[in-house]
Amino acid sequence: MRPILRLVLGASFVVAPVHAAGAQRWYRGNTHVHTRESDGNRPPEEVARWYRDHGYHFLVVTDHERITDPAPLNAQLGKPGAFLVIAGQEITQQVADASHPQGIRQAHVVSIAPARVVLPLGEKGIAQGTTVAAMYASHLAAVRAAGGLAQVNHPNFRWSVRLEDMAALPDSTPFELWNAQPRINNLGGDDGHGRTSLSTEALWDSLLTRGRLLWAVGSDDAHNFAALDDAETTRPGGAWIMVRADTLTPAAIVGAMRAGRFYATTGVLLADVAADARAVEVTVAAPTNPRDDRRYRTRFVGRGGRTLAVVAGTRARYAIRGDEGYVRAVVVDSDGRTAWTQPLRVR
Ligand SMILES: [Zn+2]
Ligand SMILES: [Zn+2]
Repeated sequence: MRPILRLVLGASFVVAPVHAAGAQRWYRGNTHVHTRESDGNRPPEEVARWYRDHGYHFLVVTDHERITDPAPLNAQLGKPGAFLVIAGQEITQQVADASHPQGIRQAHVVSIAPARVVLPLGEKGIAQGTTVAAMYASHLAAVRAAGGLAQVNHPNFRWSVRLEDMAALPDSTPFELWNAQPRINNLGGDDGHGRTSLSTEALWDSLLTRGRLLWAVGSDDAHNFAALDDAETTRPGGAWIMVRADTLTPAAIVGAMRAGRFYATTGVLLADVAADARAVEVTVAAPTNPRDDRRYRTRFVGRGGRTLAVVAGTRARYAIRGDEGYVRAVVVDSDGRTAWTQPLRVR
């Protein structure tokens, strides 16, 4: 599938009106993937080639506890403006916690475009006598000091991360709203015995309602490039981000992500996202396949996860009243695929 990326951009975006939007375009990218350099099952060249051949513009390779060198990958597969491999790693931090059924919470963080690796704390990466929140604070600071951008991973993996664990994350921290792997539990759940976890989207709304302006990411976390027809394996291609940037460089991509100039998606593509003090407006990209007859519904969401409006069609506009707290848009197509735009804070 070669997705739609020949898009002309319109008005300025939520938090970064400083750029002339006309010079910017959307770049499709995945910020979380593993190769044979850690626990993936294919060498880095094959992984990068999969993404290049499936319409992605950039890939952050995030092997566990190591930075897989992007230089040989870019020498072999990179092309200016078309495909770029960006350095990264996953910090596979675990936190001992007797209140968790397995005694351990998973507090993984991806580091995007760092100059050096950050290792998890504690013996075998299991920190004792601390909290998930403290580990996030420590690793976000370490990633920043290493020149990278930290992304908080898969909150509901092994039912690990609770609202209070994320409540002190700084504004503009990206987190995985949709990690496309099985057994990641994005939609949350109740085990029938009193253990309840919010969906990642409800978690996001709770944090936004508390004033934490986090950015939503969709990512693959793929490990398996050998059994692509097996839905039980960790395959690529399920969720990604579309980043609006001037150029395809690590600095431009990371800068746009810090500024919230991107959206998360599982297959809905947007031509434009515009937001200012008066309105939030989203425009679905025109189909490139003549048989594409999908229909779209956009839900605008505000404080407490409240639905502010639902609009059918490929263009949806919400006029801001001023009491919403924040406004974000979720666009769902008739196949169930979804795009999540970043929130606009309304004061
Ligand atoms: Zn992880
Ligand atoms: Zn991972």
